[in-house]
Amino acid sequence: MVQNIVVIGSGVMGRGIAYVAAVSGFSVQLCDINEQSLNSAKEEIAKIFNKGIERNKITEEEKNAAEERLHYTNNMDQSVSHADLIIEAVPEKIEIKKSIFEEIDRLAPAHCLFATNTSTMSPTEIGSFTNRPQKVIAMHFFNPVHKMPLVEIIKGLETDEHTVNVIQETARRMKKETVVVNEFPGFVTSRISALVGNEAFYMLQEGIGSPEDIDKAIKLGLNYPMGPFELGDLVGLDTRLNNLQYLHKTLGEKYRPAPLLVQYVKAGRLGRKTGKGVYDY
Ligand code: NAD
Repeated sequence: MVQNIVVIGSGVMGRGIAYVAAVSGFSVQLCDINEQSLNSAKEEIAKIFNKGIERNKITEEEKNAAEERLHYTNNMDQSVSHADLIIEAVPEKIEIKKSIFEEIDRLAPAHCLFATNTSTMSPTEIGSFTNRPQKVIAMHFFNPVHKMPLVEIIKGLETDEHTVNVIQETARRMKKETVVVNEFPGFVTSRISALVGNEAFYMLQEGIGSPEDIDKAIKLGLNYPMGPFELGDLVGLDTRLNNLQYLHKTLGEKYRPAPLLVQYVKAGRLGRKTGKGVYDY
């Protein structure tokens, strides 16, 4: 049974996963090579705890206990040595994921399972960077992790049933619903959401409407909870672009990133995390 979880990458997703895991009773080490990201993760997690108390979602005692179970570190080598499950949430770049998985495979105990929070990439390919591909799977959380009920679980070609079962049980202990799907670039969710988000950028580029009106049309006309630009700014436009570039490479023309999206990323307009994306924050 999983007890010790290491989350690698303390950005938009890693911090949310670490929070949910700690609140659900797991011991958690949140690792990052970037001190600034770890500090901002700590601040944001403190805000989520405080909101949880204000809204009677958790008690002061539960908060204190969860905070004690949650540790922040830049020393990945040390923290993975006692892990039962490592969840990787580093940027959507295959070479970064490769170096992480090669390293954790060297350092983690033999029983430890590896999950990637990738939005699009192949758990089979990621598993091939290790000597334990049967223990590698994708565990795709959604943003914001403490609010979104789903974890999409994606099996690689070599992933065994034991790994699937343990990961499903772990997600349920985090009070998440699960779906288990077979590998295909973008799985179920990103395959759709990347297209919608990209199409919205093409519309903006073509001058069809303002971001506010495009978001309003999609929310009120199609009953989406968020507009595509509101969601893109929340996800991070760099992350959205990385997803599209991978899907374009693997699935072809229909995922070609809109040039305007590329421009926004070049300008550093990455969304909420930089204070400016399609909207200002
Ligand atoms: P992010 O850019 O916000 O955070 C990535 C973090 O990884 C940064 O803090 C960075 O310092 C850290 N990092 C980079 N290299 C590292 C290394 N070698 N060791 C340790 N830490 C390292 O990215 P994100 O939005 O959290 O995305 C992470 C993953 O989750 C991606 O694969 C992405 O596709 C996926 N995802 C993102 C969302 C979303 O809404 N943003 C949703 C679902 C899945």
